[in-house]
Amino acid sequence: MRAVTFQAPGVVSVEDRPEPEPLEPDDAVVRIEATGVCGSDLHIYHGRVKIEPGFTIGHEYVGTVVAAGEGVSAVSVGDRVLGCFHTACGECWFCRRGLYHRCLQSRTFGHGATLGSLQGTQAEMALVPHANLVLRRVPGGMSADVALFAGDVMGTGFHAVEESGVRPGDAVAVLGLGPVGLCAVQVARATGAAQVFAVDSVAERLAVAESFGAFPVHLQEQDARAIVRDATEGRGVDVCIDAVGHPEALDMAIRLTRPCGSVQCIGVYAERAEVHMGLLWLKALTLRGGQANVVRHVDRVLAMMAAGVLDPTPLVTNHMPLEQAPEAYAIYDRREALKIVLTP
Ligand SMILES: [Zn+2]
Ligand SMILES: [Zn+2]
Repeated sequence: MRAVTFQAPGVVSVEDRPEPEPLEPDDAVVRIEATGVCGSDLHIYHGRVKIEPGFTIGHEYVGTVVAAGEGVSAVSVGDRVLGCFHTACGECWFCRRGLYHRCLQSRTFGHGATLGSLQGTQAEMALVPHANLVLRRVPGGMSADVALFAGDVMGTGFHAVEESGVRPGDAVAVLGLGPVGLCAVQVARATGAAQVFAVDSVAERLAVAESFGAFPVHLQEQDARAIVRDATEGRGVDVCIDAVGHPEALDMAIRLTRPCGSVQCIGVYAERAEVHMGLLWLKALTLRGGQANVVRHVDRVLAMMAAGVLDPTPLVTNHMPLEQAPEAYAIYDRREALKIVLTP
């Protein structure tokens, strides 16, 4: 089978790989129909996240179950399915409490030995461990473009909104309008946020956020703090979602949020960050971080997408054959696409 593999920073190639087979009773094999290129794939592409040369990348996928171990009961051979970007065992201390994103045996597709040596989904076929927990049937009539958001990007936007405690009538700011930030805008609106301020410096992304019902704020050309202050009687937003993952964004989030409000860091942090802790303390803010618990949210996200309450379709800007993956990565790296969907 054909698979997209990491070779060296800035180099991916499409190579022949052996077809996977179920190894454990709860493994399934999925023939991939569509697979996304994600911002976290770019970390690998740039060499910031180190993986072995020759490893298959990718973790957003829709396809058909073509083989399943005897322990797979939630889906069957022939089912059209989507999957979560990581696996969870369902049995450890964290899984028993529904904290699947901190599963002690979690493995992330396409991230090399450091995240569980699980080959990625930018391939004709993918092995899916713990298929009962990781896979879901695609609701009837749902396109692949929409379905592949459930197990990663929309699930992450959903997590940011849910964890931060957005309530109907709230004012929310979303910093960073990549696919996750834009999904967070949509979920915040669907949750009943009365005002959503969407902050970024790319005009096209601000336009998409506006079409989702947000008030667009250009980071350089406008004064986000003044706009939020004027719109909230000087208080600040109830919730600020940092979908950037940079200390400057976190510092801005602390400043935009009203006293006793909450800041949710869904953007990735891996290092120390200098922020105004005194301000956070004086304002009595709640600060949360971490990757999304997509396994826990996937059914509700799918239900909302099936009902059309959430619709990531406008985020899919490019469709390309899997064979053109090197070109797709170059386009994505130049920030000329929001979401590229590859088709084997
Ligand atoms: Zn992703
Ligand atoms: Zn677990």
